[in-house]
Amino acid sequence: MAENPSVAVIGGGLAGLATALAVGSAGYPVTIYEARPFLGGRATSYAVNDLVIDNCQHILLRCCTNLQDFYKRLNVADQIHFYREFYWIEPGGRMSVMKRGLVPAPLHFTESFAKLKFLSMADKMSVATGLLAVKYEYGQRTDLEQITMADWLREKKQTPRAIERFWRQVLVSAINEELDKMAAAHGLQVLYLGFLANSTAYEMGVPRVPLGDLYSGKAWRQYKAVKFCYKCPVEKLEIVDGRVSGPMKADAYVLAVPFERVSALAPELELDLAAFTHSPITGIHLWFDRSITDLPHATLLDRTIQWMYNKKDGRHLQLVVSASRSLTEMPRADVIALALKELAEFFPNVAQAKLERAHVVKEVRATYSAVPGLEMQRPLQKTKIPNLFLAGDWTKTGWPATMEGAVRSGYLAAEAVMEGFGVRQRFLLPDVG
Ligand SMILES: Cc1cc2nc3c(=O)[nH]c(=O)nc-3n(C[C@H](O)[C@H](O)[C@H](O)COP(=O)(O)OP(=O)(O)OC[C@H]3O[C@@H](n4cnc5c(N)ncnc54)[C@H](O)[C@@H]3O)c2cc1C
Repeated sequence: MAENPSVAVIGGGLAGLATALAVGSAGYPVTIYEARPFLGGRATSYAVNDLVIDNCQHILLRCCTNLQDFYKRLNVADQIHFYREFYWIEPGGRMSVMKRGLVPAPLHFTESFAKLKFLSMADKMSVATGLLAVKYEYGQRTDLEQITMADWLREKKQTPRAIERFWRQVLVSAINEELDKMAAAHGLQVLYLGFLANSTAYEMGVPRVPLGDLYSGKAWRQYKAVKFCYKCPVEKLEIVDGRVSGPMKADAYVLAVPFERVSALAPELELDLAAFTHSPITGIHLWFDRSITDLPHATLLDRTIQWMYNKKDGRHLQLVVSASRSLTEMPRADVIALALKELAEFFPNVAQAKLERAHVVKEVRATYSAVPGLEMQRPLQKTKIPNLFLAGDWTKTGWPATMEGAVRSGYLAAEAVMEGFGVRQRFLLPDVG
């Protein structure tokens, strides 16, 4: 082993960036080989004509401890604005606000929950019983990875409106999958860590700048050991005598690419990824000639559009639909028409406003579909090839496919790389308690 061994990271998404940040901060020379001319992978921004937009609005919760650590290390944590209020709007425009009150966790939502208008008393009792069950079953019950969230909700005798307006509204966006497809384990995890673990964990972080600015060259200046090779797609790793030896020279290699790319790059790993499939997300950018709303964001009930984010002055809105299979085949003009029709049901100003511009981003391969049984198939960062490691939101991280999951995978990969160099160092931070 070289005196100061080097690392090649293939893929400049959050997983690859977190790996490089961790290994680089420990002083090891690391180069990121990224196929595209910019960083960020699925959480990125790019120019569309004269404007820079995110591929899709990305948000985090305060319970994303490793992602926040990553932002802190890059000196961009102050570019994330955390909101304490969640706005829920029904068709017709009636709004309810959920925020923490004075009662300590896990009852911190009690006051605002009591005032929610979109659930009846029976629905609220139903949700409260369900959340109590989350508190007792999360981390304890062993079959949650085998059943779907819909199975679990049926078992807990949730009312149809509680399912549709509370559980579905929260979880489909968080896990990017429908309730009858997602493993209950993920659903309970989101609710436990985000809603019950402590009173600030639910706060929603929204970047103040385009996603790409968070990982710009400036942010990396302090990490002299980290180098970047843009527009450097790696076709295949060369494996000789059971170790990776090229095409670029390094002592350790980290494959931080999406799961569908791994077999082509390293067939020798013989990973069985047949159980992995994709779930899509659609982002719709709308620019109006006037302000549509003063709200910073809102979740929209009972319609296709699930979230609205106010990007600028109420005139540029970003709408998000998770698990958006119904929109994948729909022509873009129809997606825009549907978005406008639905938006007008929540924000009356839409009827008078002129749409100046629109842009639809269909991310068909947004995340893997977190179906029951998949958890067992997620590979560890350490592989059977001693100097080859994996990172990516799809590897075993303990989290669903999210930015937090990607950063966790990067930190875990960095720990494994350094263990291979004979150094024990921890980067992964524990979940909120
Ligand atoms: C539309 C959308 C909305 C989302 N919203 C949220 C959200 O609100 N909150 C949240 O937490 N998560 C969200 N996610 C999920 C989050 O973006 C991902 O989980 C995370 O970014 C994945 O990071 P990654 O590094 O594992 O993979 P990727 O971001 O896919 O990075 C892989 C990188 O590898 C590069 N690459 C691929 N092949 C090669 C090759 N052969 N050689 C070199 N480079 C290669 C790619 O160009 C890419 O940059 C969203 C995802 C999408 C698509």
